[in-house]
Amino acid sequence: MEGIVSAIVPAAGAGERLPGDEPKQLRLLGELPVLVWSVRSLAAADGVAEVIVGAAKDRIEQVRKLLDATVPFDCKVVAGGAERQETVRRCLAEVRADAEIIVIHDAVRPFVSPQLVEKAIKAAAEKGAVTAALRPLDSIKFEYAAGRIGENLDRERLWQVQTPQAFKKDVIIKAHNQAAENGFKATDDTALVERIGAPVEIVRGERLNFKITTKADWEMASALAAAGAVRPARI
Ligand code: C5P
Repeated sequence: MEGIVSAIVPAAGAGERLPGDEPKQLRLLGELPVLVWSVRSLAAADGVAEVIVGAAKDRIEQVRKLLDATVPFDCKVVAGGAERQETVRRCLAEVRADAEIIVIHDAVRPFVSPQLVEKAIKAAAEKGAVTAALRPLDSIKFEYAAGRIGENLDRERLWQVQTPQAFKKDVIIKAHNQAAENGFKATDDTALVERIGAPVEIVRGERLNFKITTKADWEMASALAAAGAVRPARI
């Protein structure tokens, strides 16, 4: 048993790369909004005792009502920040005092399985800090001048990082505090942990756990949901 786990879902982005009236995390994917798929997968994972969602200030009421109606679980909604890192930091301030593990998952990765969340939690309890990640399938090349590629990077030494990312609580809080003190910014939470010199380990991610960023991602996600190839987790 891993102890009490708090889950954090940054969901305060404007989703500017995917135009539309609603930010992508609040759009319907099949019968449920994207955010609800993600929250349900976290809530269904063993050990998770609460889910804290960081929402844009002007969407807090909307998100609270939505979760009340669709997720029978202890969910808190807090005001997010201007950047993802700040949203996570604000959510961290709200976790239960007795939480031992924190698992962080992007709202816009709706098809994460509860099993992957559990795997990340279990590994974090042993190792302190972990992220889901996959080997890249495409060849990855280094650009040495604008538009010119040269060096081929070895795919067997590269990881494409996803969420969930899971941490012992003291590790992630220390990492966020130090980043805030030094004005260090990164696009994911493991970068902050690496910066304080703590090791971060990999758990094998899932191909379906892709991030909805572009219109093509949205179309793919909608098609998968419509075909019944993915289903919301049961709590
Ligand atoms: O922009 P990107 O796709 O990397 O966002 C990843 C996650 O971070 C999304 O779920 C988004 O809603 C969230 N985010 C946030 N606060 C921000 C910006 C992004 O919670 N200010």
